Amino acid sequence: MTLRSKTLLTVGIVFLALIIILYIISQTLLMRSFARLEEQRTRQNVEQALNALSNDLLTLKSLTSDWASWDDTYAFVEDVNQDYIQTNLVDDTFTELRLNLMLFVNSSGQMVHGKAFDLQNEEEMTVPESLLSYLPPGGLLVSHSDPESIVRGIILLPENPMLIVSAPILTSEDEGPVRGALILGRYLDSSEIERLSGQTRLPLTIYRYDRSPAPGDFQTLVPFLSEEIPVLIRPLGKQSVAGYALMRDIYDKPVLLMRVDMPRDIYAQGQDTLAYFILSLLAVGAVLGVTALLFLDRQVLSRLTRLSRGVSSIGTSGDLSVRVPISGKDELSKLGVALNVMVETLERSSNMLKRKNELLDAQTKDLQSKAEELTAQRREVEKANQRKSEFMANMSHELRSPLNVIIGFAELMIDELSGKIDQEQKQCLNDILNSGQHLLSLVNDVLDLSRIESGKVELKSGKVALERLIASLTRTVMPILSPRKQSLDVDVESCLPLVYADEGNLAQVLLNLVDNASKFTPDEGKLKVEAVRVGDWCRVSVIDNGIGIKKEDQERIFEPFIRLEEPLVRERGGTGLGLTVVKQLIEKHGGRVWVESEYGRGSQFNFTLPLTNGDFRNPGEPGSEKEDTDC
Ligand code: ADP
Repeated sequence: MTLRSKTLLTVGIVFLALIIILYIISQTLLMRSFARLEEQRTRQNVEQALNALSNDLLTLKSLTSDWASWDDTYAFVEDVNQDYIQTNLVDDTFTELRLNLMLFVNSSGQMVHGKAFDLQNEEEMTVPESLLSYLPPGGLLVSHSDPESIVRGIILLPENPMLIVSAPILTSEDEGPVRGALILGRYLDSSEIERLSGQTRLPLTIYRYDRSPAPGDFQTLVPFLSEEIPVLIRPLGKQSVAGYALMRDIYDKPVLLMRVDMPRDIYAQGQDTLAYFILSLLAVGAVLGVTALLFLDRQVLSRLTRLSRGVSSIGTSGDLSVRVPISGKDELSKLGVALNVMVETLERSSNMLKRKNELLDAQTKDLQSKAEELTAQRREVEKANQRKSEFMANMSHELRSPLNVIIGFAELMIDELSGKIDQEQKQCLNDILNSGQHLLSLVNDVLDLSRIESGKVELKSGKVALERLIASLTRTVMPILSPRKQSLDVDVESCLPLVYADEGNLAQVLLNLVDNASKFTPDEGKLKVEAVRVGDWCRVSVIDNGIGIKKEDQERIFEPFIRLEEPLVRERGGTGLGLTVVKQLIEKHGGRVWVESEYGRGSQFNFTLPLTNGDFRNPGEPGSEKEDTDC
């Protein structure tokens, strides 16, 4: 989802939520106040209708008082004179006063005269029987002990409810004693209700409490109406609302229910207002929303899109000389500036890298040509070395024959086989012999070394029993050790397998090392040859307690012609090639040579050789089968 559609969605959702919340709030608040207004007006109307009825009763009351406090009536209730009847109780009186009933009751509670009148047909009618039940002796309507007491209210007669007033009969001066009661009545019939309706301009309906079936709303509303809640308001639907009031009779019994209907114009107005409000809210919201979106798009989204397009075009083209477009002076423009700075830095580093790469390429080419040159030189050197070794080998070989002749003749002459010589001549001949022998050993060593270096020495490797080889070596070196009174110990690990080596070469290595150990150990020194197994290898050590070698010399003594500056070394002589030959031969076998030594205390020269695989028997040596089985 793009940032633009996310923003659109967010603004849309916020806008919608706002409209819904506003709608709910306004619906609740606005419609509640409109409903309250409607209720108030309906209540006023109900009260107006009730007032009209009460006014009706008040008029009837003052009428009754007028008639009751009159000397003629005062006399009439005593004598019931016909004159009073003919003058006053005529039909016109009933029509004019809109009366349906006039009853005269004397002080003993007996009705002395009564007339009922039908106002519709304008004719006299019999006093309704049902009325008599309201006039028991001593009843509310008939007995007035107090001249002030007037009873007014409603009674429910089977045919119609009736507005009724009973006043005490007094003199014209409102004086007693009370001679009975005058009761005037007016039916609350349809014409009277119509009159009241017209007067109040309200559609009135009156239900009887005792009639069944009573209208539905009547049944449900009665329980809610009481002294405290005399008026109830109920909407009848979308079109009209009704106000209800309970009316009680003279005994305070609920007998009638008045209903005032009203159109719901206030409510409808409320609905309209709400609809207009929401519509205008929608319109304003839409305008604001679109404006906000346009603003956001102009100020943020389109600029962001331009930035992102700029960055990705740099990414895809790889052209670091391009810059992203910048507009305005805010965080986005700062971001653009920062991006451009970054691209600039990248451009600089990439240029630098390019230059370095070029430099490296040039150097690599240079190095390559130098390496080729070196390889060529190395080949040349190798060839030269080869030629040198060949030359040395030839030279040594050519030197040995005349040397042997010189040595041989020197010996002959010393032994006086060629004639008598004096002491001085003998000494000279001995010097010739010694120098000749030294030269011969030097030539021999040079010959060995050059043969090894030129690769002419071919190893004739086979299985060699070290124990036997060392035993024969012991015998060989005895003539060297004896004059120096040096001892030689041999310690070969039992069950040491045969080593894989060229026996002749190995004998020469051992001889060189034991010869050195003897040479560089003072007289009566102790020498030892040791052989142990180390994994798949055999380590042979030649140990002495001689002059030892300084740490810094321990590496270089394996180089050719190196002889250390020690008195014993000078005295005992040597060529400086023995250890070089040892190192070359052992390394040809795949082994390694090293020295461990403490200056002044002795040295231990070690070398390693590969062991054969669990083979103990020395071929052709009797008795070795036994050893084989022991191990
Ligand atoms: P050289 O013919 O002199 O023995 P080597 O190559 O065998 O020549 O030895 C080189 C030098 O190493 C010797 O001259 C000596 O100084 C030193 N060296 C060799 N073996 C021993 C040893 N066992 N003890 C002390 N020094 C030794």
